[in-house]
Amino acid sequence: MERIKWVMASVSGNAAETGTPGVTRFAPSPTGFLHIGNARTGLFSWLYARHHGGKTLLRIEDTDKVRSTKEAIDVILDGLNWLGLEFDGHTYYQSQFEARHAEVAHELIASGAGYRCYLTQEELAARREKAREEKKPFRIESEWRDADPSTWPEGQDYVVRIKAPRDGETVIEDLVQGKVTVKNSELDDFVLLRSDGTPTYMLAVVVDDHDMGVTHIIRGDDHLNNAFRQLTIIKAMGWPEPRYAHIPLIHGQDGAKLSKRHGAMGVNDYRDELGILPEALLNYLLRLGWGHGDREEFTKDEAVEMFDISGVGKSPSRFDMKKLLSLNGHYIREADNARLAALIAPRIGPKADIDTLVAAMPVLKTRARDINELADGAAFLFKSRPLELTAQAQALLDSDAQLLLWRISARLAAENDWTSGPLEASLKAMAEELGLGLGKLAQPLRAALTGQTTSPGIFDVLVLLGKEESLARIDAQAVPGDQIAEL
Ligand code: GLU
Repeated sequence: MERIKWVMASVSGNAAETGTPGVTRFAPSPTGFLHIGNARTGLFSWLYARHHGGKTLLRIEDTDKVRSTKEAIDVILDGLNWLGLEFDGHTYYQSQFEARHAEVAHELIASGAGYRCYLTQEELAARREKAREEKKPFRIESEWRDADPSTWPEGQDYVVRIKAPRDGETVIEDLVQGKVTVKNSELDDFVLLRSDGTPTYMLAVVVDDHDMGVTHIIRGDDHLNNAFRQLTIIKAMGWPEPRYAHIPLIHGQDGAKLSKRHGAMGVNDYRDELGILPEALLNYLLRLGWGHGDREEFTKDEAVEMFDISGVGKSPSRFDMKKLLSLNGHYIREADNARLAALIAPRIGPKADIDTLVAAMPVLKTRARDINELADGAAFLFKSRPLELTAQAQALLDSDAQLLLWRISARLAAENDWTSGPLEASLKAMAEELGLGLGKLAQPLRAALTGQTTSPGIFDVLVLLGKEESLARIDAQAVPGDQIAEL
């Protein structure tokens, strides 16, 4: 039955070509974080299915029992949830299918496509060493490959190996890499079941993909070599061959594969440490390796509408933090003020007041490129007097500046229209009268009002603080001229 299906599939072409909605999957292994490269793979699998009206499934590859803790799994689920990638049906857990994996391994033995191999670790090590001495590539040549089952030693440990084809070649028409051919003589009799009966990744992934009805496997190109080995199992079982799309990995600015050395790696780090919005990360990851003309900004819905695997390039993409931050700034400006206020309040601390933040947000969000910057820019609103000054702010407030602040305070006290235009006109006029640049006034004023040397525009700061609080903060740092003279 399965065999007939496979023949039909190969005659009628693949799902992508016939327009049949396919089934994709995302199959992360819990490693303690959701690598952004993996997140992009998940995004592409998700988009492909959504674009074609197919299904997309999530399978947690939790066969490594030491690493697959609940926390490590939750990090992945949390990251996907934050990115808004919802998968169809329930989450699959690979460890639940171990009995099924073993069953397939034994079917392969029964059909003659697999065999019990009784070579011991010592024998293998000796053969490896010999190959090394003779400077020959090591390749498993197990005498058990063609041994008659009647000669299998009872009660001895064995592994189950696949009988890899030795002649001919295997071809993959990869949707990203194009046609890739491997000589079958390069494929080895890899292990399907370990001696303790547990399945290897190579077997588990194939069985699960088949059982879940996956038609399109979209994953990192570090798995391209595995695809040829996996096809050996698929062909031996007479299962339909999936279409493969192996997407290039993400590299750092230096051209090397993205690793811990390049800084933040996990999706959660982008959220928690770098203050990136999910729609910005999603948009950035989409553009990293996929293009649609020279357009940069895509909402999730637009991405679903326009995405196809044909737009994915073959060469590795370089991660560009500046580009991500600039997209993030764009999405911050687009974001709802109440949402942003709720996001930055915990970063400011217990004094942060949501209503004040919402009211200030139109001004605050014009410049920030990430949520931390946004929070830093808002923090001055909640400082209590006397303000704690940064060292740079303190350095700005010398006696000249203190005197200037005293004059500014007197001037602003007379200002009745506390809005940005009149405040600007007033301070500009004052700067002119004193023969000073506006910056000379703005710098100490900023230090006094915010305790910092960077802040939103100075007139915005005055407006956001209101007249009373602004004057109180200025007066706290100002010293009248006669008092300075007495010092
Ligand atoms: N669990 C594998 C990984 O995280 C992916 C397996 C696959 O996509 O075939 O690299």
